[in-house]
Amino acid sequence: MKEGIHPNYGEATVTCGCGNTFKTGSVKSDLRVDVCSKCHPFFTGQQRTAQARGRIEQFNKRYGK
Ligand SMILES: [Zn+2]
Repeated sequence: MKEGIHPNYGEATVTCGCGNTFKTGSVKSDLRVDVCSKCHPFFTGQQRTAQARGRIEQFNKRYGK
């Protein structure tokens, strides 16, 4: 790994199309995404059902959010 090829790498605020915001590491300070872990079909099970909502809560609980 060469040093100096990742300038200004730090924390970025990501804003999702669903309105959710979260922090991540990036060279940019602000990012916009169409889907995030709260609304991506992979996490919601394709539909926003009560069951999917429970799964999201489990996901957040598991990762200490
Ligand atoms: Zn989202």
